[in-house]
Amino acid sequence: MSRSLRLLLLPGDGIGPEISAATEAVVGAAARRHDLELDITRADIGFAALEAHGSTIPADVVAEAKKAHGVILGPVSHNAYPPAADGGLNPSGTLRRELDLYANIRPARSIPGVPQPIGKPIDLVVVRENLEGFYADRNMAQGPGEFMPEPGIAIALRKITVRASRRIAERAFAIAHERPARRLAAVHKANVLRVSDGLFLDEVRKVAACCPQIAYEEVIVDAAMALVVRNPARFDVLLSTNMFGDILSDLTSELAGSLGLGASLNVGDEHAMAQAQHGSAPDIAGTDAANPTSLIGSTAMLLRHLGEEPAAQAIERACERAIAVPETRTRDLGGTLGTRAFTAAVIDHLGGP
Ligand code: NAD
Repeated sequence: MSRSLRLLLLPGDGIGPEISAATEAVVGAAARRHDLELDITRADIGFAALEAHGSTIPADVVAEAKKAHGVILGPVSHNAYPPAADGGLNPSGTLRRELDLYANIRPARSIPGVPQPIGKPIDLVVVRENLEGFYADRNMAQGPGEFMPEPGIAIALRKITVRASRRIAERAFAIAHERPARRLAAVHKANVLRVSDGLFLDEVRKVAACCPQIAYEEVIVDAAMALVVRNPARFDVLLSTNMFGDILSDLTSELAGSLGLGASLNVGDEHAMAQAQHGSAPDIAGTDAANPTSLIGSTAMLLRHLGEEPAAQAIERACERAIAVPETRTRDLGGTLGTRAFTAAVIDHLGGP
């Protein structure tokens, strides 16, 4: 009997609609080959929703997201949105908070045939806390965590809690447990942020003590950036707080070949959301020039999370085969294909009917 999944697709702004269409086509083709029934509903967010409903993330979209098995979120142009009071909310931050998606999982793995900036193999996962830290749009119950008490003075609050630190650590150690190398590095700045990163590390150490089969180390964030460039193979799972993890994962994706290839999954205990690592690329929007690999790969991660390993693996392999040869690469990777032709090449690599 075929399995059935309900997914909510939110195309977003800029190149979002183009890479969302590519993702829908590839995932639909993979589902048909793996006896998986996919019911994909689309809803507007971003500028399209602001125009039609007065908000970049309408409440009914959030309600739909909570009902779906999974969400696919296209990139959004939140830097160009009007203030929150005029409807310009960040859909990504809002959905992460509303769906309690406390973990952001960002693998970085070398792809055979794809030139890497430093020419050293990389295969690691950054696990990043997703709901607190320095993120002013989601670390307060009311009001933003960044404010200006008087002109010339700006203050940003960084919130670190026992609960968030403990659960992101548990998630990261569970991921390390499933990987052959079984190593985990906590990335922190507790030498300066003694109280907040000290609290984070205390919780991570408690989880580490319960997982003696995982080789555990602690690395200060600035050194971690240098060490991962010097020798990426030193690392397996990198666990960090929100902003350090965000910066570190862009670096590791780039070391794997390109930020444009980096897949990313937001997960909580009840919900999951695929989301490309890159932004809405307004400079190339509507020109068929976007590389859709990041959103496609993120959706493969979502399918794996939902128990559909064969379809997820097939999608990842098809993308890797298309990228492995210059003839079927998009222009950002030195190839000649547009978004639609690249999508067709990936579907070809899925094989079958
Ligand atoms: P960006 O990631 O959108 O673009 C940076 C550069 O990379 C651009 O030259 C762009 O053309 C290129 N690029 C990005 N994705 C690409 C792809 N898939 N294929 C080919 N080229 C690609 O970053 P930016 O220009 O700093 O931000 C643009 C908007 O995106 C801003 O409003 C920003 O706030 C938003 N943003 C959104 C997210 C998100 O939705 N998750 C993340 C980052 C930035």
